[in-house]
Amino acid sequence: MTDTSSAGSGRYPADAPASEALFDRARAIVPGGVNSPVRAFRAVGGTPRFMVRGEGPWLYDADDRRYVDLVCSWGPLILGHAHPEVVAAVQAAAARGTSFGTPTPGEVELAAEIVDRTPVEQVRLVNSGTEATMSAIRLARGYTGRSKIIKFAGCYHGHVDALLAAAGSGVATLGLPDSPGVTGAAASETVVLPYNDLRAVEEAFAAEGPHIAAVITEAAAGNMGVVAPRDGFNQELARIAHAHGALLIVDEVMTGFRVSRSGWHGLDPSDADLWTYGKVMGGGLPAAAFGGRAEIMARLAPAGPVYQAGTLSGNPLACAAGLATLRLADDALYRRLDETAAVVGKLAADALAAAGVPHRLSYAGSMFSIFFTDADVVDYDSARTQQVPAFKAFFHAMLAAGVYLPPSAFESWFVSAALDDAALEQIATALPVAARAAAAAGHGG
Ligand SMILES: *Cc1c(COP(=O)(O)O)cnc(C)c1O
Repeated sequence: MTDTSSAGSGRYPADAPASEALFDRARAIVPGGVNSPVRAFRAVGGTPRFMVRGEGPWLYDADDRRYVDLVCSWGPLILGHAHPEVVAAVQAAAARGTSFGTPTPGEVELAAEIVDRTPVEQVRLVNSGTEATMSAIRLARGYTGRSKIIKFAGCYHGHVDALLAAAGSGVATLGLPDSPGVTGAAASETVVLPYNDLRAVEEAFAAEGPHIAAVITEAAAGNMGVVAPRDGFNQELARIAHAHGALLIVDEVMTGFRVSRSGWHGLDPSDADLWTYGKVMGGGLPAAAFGGRAEIMARLAPAGPVYQAGTLSGNPLACAAGLATLRLADDALYRRLDETAAVVGKLAADALAAAGVPHRLSYAGSMFSIFFTDADVVDYDSARTQQVPAFKAFFHAMLAAGVYLPPSAFESWFVSAALDDAALEQIATALPVAARAAAAAGHGG
């Protein structure tokens, strides 16, 4: 390895020649040069860093620069990169064969682990969070015989046609209008309401109750930045939906197995009907799931008539990575994630306060983000009061000092249990400089 320790003292140059060369090649043959939009750095400018390796709390890019990783693959890596037990589990599974297209023991074990930790009685494994929410919605429609779905502005549930209306994550990051290619018919089945607004939910049910199959909500919103539900919000959603014969789908793809042993449900239980999971449960490989009451899940093929399938669903490598991760995710690990998130959030907030940068530090369990605004953030409209130029300057100063933040002001920061003293020190050193850069940008600098 060449020099990978310079960020602690010095700063990385603004150019990144190896990443730039890769990005040039990629852009010629991959739309925008990336396979998922936020990765392209459009919201912050500059060249996305092409990562070649990860180890514990660190990421190493193609120019062999080292960064503390506060993205963790957008949530999955609660143990950090290349955890030895996860790597060993995947290697052992790979040596036995990568895919069989038959039932396998690992799927049963992963399903049992999920059922043990969560309120779901039965679970179906899929390959991505998008598939999980898409399938949960199909099941809710099949079960109720109704067509409409309520979702909340700023919540992201994957790139399912019906759920791209006023979506968070990359759609928010890039400030996109609702996506071309989603038909008017698909969009017209979706009712979009402000997050944390129960009165809007009551009114929507009063107007269209008999047509509403389900309400879908992020367990705690993490795709417009982190916005926790108000006290009682998820519980009231269940009550209102049930009063009208509709289902509640709680999307725990981001929160599930990250914020507690059982996800957001462990902190703030609700009487939902279906839950979706992803990210952490795949341990960095593609795996996701949806589940709920046995009576509802029994409507899925082959037990019932609602069709849902997948060539690679329950893939043995993904199940092995997920199981190895979940088996290490005990109460001590969640305490450590909570403590680490508290430390990193406070360091950042203190640095911004010292530099006079308006900000709000917002938590949902160990997920958190910083809004560059002094408004109370309770929904998507208030999240959008952010001073994005201040975030851009902050982001690039952190990157130059060897800290990899989400390249968007509208995404959660993710910690791992691998964040050690050296990583924390690198963050602490980077923050005051980044906060001053944000202050200068906020003053039009
Ligand atoms: C990431 C995410 C999804 C989509 O998962 P993919 O695996 O990216 O398809 C869905 N819902 C929530 C809440 C998410 O955070």
